[in-house]
Amino acid sequence: MKITGISAAVITLLPRVAFAARNSLRTVRTGIQPGNKTRLVIETSARPSYSISYPANQVVITLSNTAANRSLAPAMAAGTLVKAITQVQSGDKLQIIADLSTPISSIPRENIMLLNPNGDNEYRLVMDFTADTNAKTASATTTTIASTKGKVTSEPVKAKNTSTRKYTIVIDAGHGGKDPGCIGKGGTKEKVIVLSVAKKLRDKLSAAGFNAYLTRSDDTYLKLAQRASIGEKKHADLFLSLHANANPSRSMKGFSIYTLSEKASDEEAQKLADAENAADKIDVSGFEQFDKDIRIALSSLQQHAVAAMSVEYANNCASQFKRAKITQQPGPDVRHAPFAVLRSTVPGALIELGHLSNASEESLLKSSSHQDKLVAAIVKSVQAYDFDV
Ligand SMILES: [Zn+2]
Repeated sequence: MKITGISAAVITLLPRVAFAARNSLRTVRTGIQPGNKTRLVIETSARPSYSISYPANQVVITLSNTAANRSLAPAMAAGTLVKAITQVQSGDKLQIIADLSTPISSIPRENIMLLNPNGDNEYRLVMDFTADTNAKTASATTTTIASTKGKVTSEPVKAKNTSTRKYTIVIDAGHGGKDPGCIGKGGTKEKVIVLSVAKKLRDKLSAAGFNAYLTRSDDTYLKLAQRASIGEKKHADLFLSLHANANPSRSMKGFSIYTLSEKASDEEAQKLADAENAADKIDVSGFEQFDKDIRIALSSLQQHAVAAMSVEYANNCASQFKRAKITQQPGPDVRHAPFAVLRSTVPGALIELGHLSNASEESLLKSSSHQDKLVAAIVKSVQAYDFDV
């Protein structure tokens, strides 16, 4: 991060600290990241427990059990959205209040990173953000933060999360057109089942207040990179790719859930990724370029954050499936493999809804009531997912 200038607008509001703080504030700094993103870094001596709220024109980071730092002068880079940084001690909580030149509604979770100590650095809470259009509606709600400025306060500062953003889910029905996916003994095609489930899921998620989009709404063939890129273009918060499985053993049953990793968690997961990726072997042009673009767009920190959020979602999804008493394929709740369709900046998972190679599961997957059950479990998993910190 480049520090190009130091702002004088630093106010510190600090009563005496009358508690034994477990954590202490080391540094606060801002910088500019590629894409004109503002980076705010809060460094602490121990792993911070924190919450973030977004009152009008501010970002407020509340650190539990943390003592303020009276001698701290935040290092403020020029050209960021942060105009001033104030520390407010409220009991054993320390609030770091960043006054912004332009409001933001919230910082997406993949842009909030908690880093472990390395080299000269201690624990760092790193937040990247840009001014966003959603903030216009959010900033209508003002809070009392501003009134605490200019005086020492020990009152708790009320900071309310004013994010009113609708979350966007992109649902990808696997295969389509010339690519039928796997085919059951009774002739059921994967591409048909997953499209039917995807449409039901879109309707239920829309009804539940989400923006839900499909990568394909009819029997068309889309390249894997095109599917991933729809997630990017829609600025999706979550990308769900729906599939059904086939196994040489006709007795194999159950759902399984996968997230992206460059290395497969087991041989079976790798085989599945190979099978699902095979759709593009017919024509891989465009994918390599897309892949490269994504690699550039994603810092390793963000890749790490996106992977962690995907795993969090996938675990939650697996538990909702189990709660709904949907048969699970033997093995871990969540596996990892290099699925091309998941290669993007959007957290997501690939859900194998069941085995078309198993006769009883083939008829279940065809039935509308079982499809509804699958959809209800996925809707619950989306509702339970923590989109923003
Ligand atoms: Zn598939």
